[in-house]
Amino acid sequence: MEPEDVTFELEKVYKKIGVIFKQAKAIAIYPEGTQTTSKPFVLIEYTGRDFPGKKENVEYDYLINATGPKLNFEATPGLGPDKNSLSVCSASHAKQAAQELKKTIENMKKGKNAVFLVGTGHGQATCQGAAFEYAFI
Ligand SMILES: Cc1cc2nc3c(=O)[nH]c(=O)nc-3n(C[C@H](O)[C@H](O)[C@H](O)COP(=O)(O)OP(=O)(O)OC[C@H]3O[C@@H](n4cnc5c(N)ncnc54)[C@H](O)[C@@H]3O)c2cc1C
Repeated sequence: MEPEDVTFELEKVYKKIGVIFKQAKAIAIYPEGTQTTSKPFVLIEYTGRDFPGKKENVEYDYLINATGPKLNFEATPGLGPDKNSLSVCSASHAKQAAQELKKTIENMKKGKNAVFLVGTGHGQATCQGAAFEYAFI
């Protein structure tokens, strides 16, 4: 499958359940407000089609910060799609890995042997499951 087959815009999904969705990145958190407001807020910058670059303060009662993992290729010298290994940890990485796998399979069909090494970065990497899945697939 291509990335377009497995990705979709979130706004419509949230609209259905009455949640206000803002396509933006959080730049700073002000848990105690500022000199002009005592309410806590998050400074965001819009990244979607509608108002790219526009900044806004979004006040909150409760904040859940769920920005996901940071891919830490730097923890292992030589690791990473820009260096000596491939990754399946984002849609664009997975697409690149699939293209390389396809090329290798083509070469194997022509009689060339290939050795595959599948693994995770280092002892504290939390996504070993994906590596096992990939090996078994
Ligand atoms: C190849 C692969 C296979 C996996 N298979 C499984 C599986 O089979 N079962 C399973 O349970 N888990 C699986 N996982 C793990 C699972 O995908 C993650 O644990 C889960 O997606 C984490 O969810 P999350 O909401 O915490 O973070 P994410 O899904 O990473 O979401 C974080 C979001 O925050 C956004 N964000 C980051 N910074 C900012 C910012 N400053 N402002 C605004 N937004 C921001 C990101 O763009 C992203 O959309 C797999 C992961 C991979 C890579």
